[in-house]
Amino acid sequence: MRCRASRHVAIVAALGWAPPGQAAQQQVERERERQAMVAEQIEARGVTHAGVLRAMNAVPRHEFVPEDYGELAYADRPLPIGLGQTISQPFIVALMTELVDPGPTDRILEVGTGSGYQAAVAAELVAEVFTIELLPELAASAEARLRRLGAANVHVRAGDGYLGWPEEAPFDGILVTAGADHVPQPLIDQLAVGARMVIPVGDQLANQVLKVIEKRPDGTVDTRDVVPVRFVPLRRR
Ligand code: SAH
Repeated sequence: MRCRASRHVAIVAALGWAPPGQAAQQQVERERERQAMVAEQIEARGVTHAGVLRAMNAVPRHEFVPEDYGELAYADRPLPIGLGQTISQPFIVALMTELVDPGPTDRILEVGTGSGYQAAVAAELVAEVFTIELLPELAASAEARLRRLGAANVHVRAGDGYLGWPEEAPFDGILVTAGADHVPQPLIDQLAVGARMVIPVGDQLANQVLKVIEKRPDGTVDTRDVVPVRFVPLRRR
């Protein structure tokens, strides 16, 4: 026993004295890039919600992009994640999260899991995130990634998000991260009174606008346009 304990001490000492390896250095570099991203791309463009800024600083975006794109993980742009899909530009993720008005006890629905990044950001701010992805391969890889990173309050499902997740409705917020040509009625039905849905809507890719849709007590909705955007299309099976 004594022997094993002293070996343990020796290993800890060795780790403590080791010069930072390449992986550790890269980690420090990514953290610096992430802080710069939040300051220059997100705060500078007017996102002020302290919790959103904290979440954008906390979630390691480089873990959500393919390894080949690691160097670009904190650049001001969307990136390909395979199967013709993309992870959104960081500013848009922050903006959508702010617009959905997250609260600590909220249960949020996301349509279009993709890499799982937007879900992970929202999960920092709310109680639970339910996220649906049409492509089973992406749903599986996002779920594995979220488990590995410890995002225990995100629930991933493969399926058609146009239909929402009726068993878990109503939601305190809905984020749609694929462009629709109209606002899906099932999602309006699954929005709690007073809650908001943030959704890109447009008849074609070049003509989408990010909309905030708030449900009134009588079940009708109040809609406002926020900013022009470009999202991959919301598809049906
Ligand atoms: N939020 C993602 C990026 C979304 S890209 C992230 O943070 O990485 C849009 C995603 O929506 C794609 O993965 C696409 O496959 C998915 N999608 C398209 N139509 C869908 C539908 N009807 N239901 C669920 N997901 C859909």
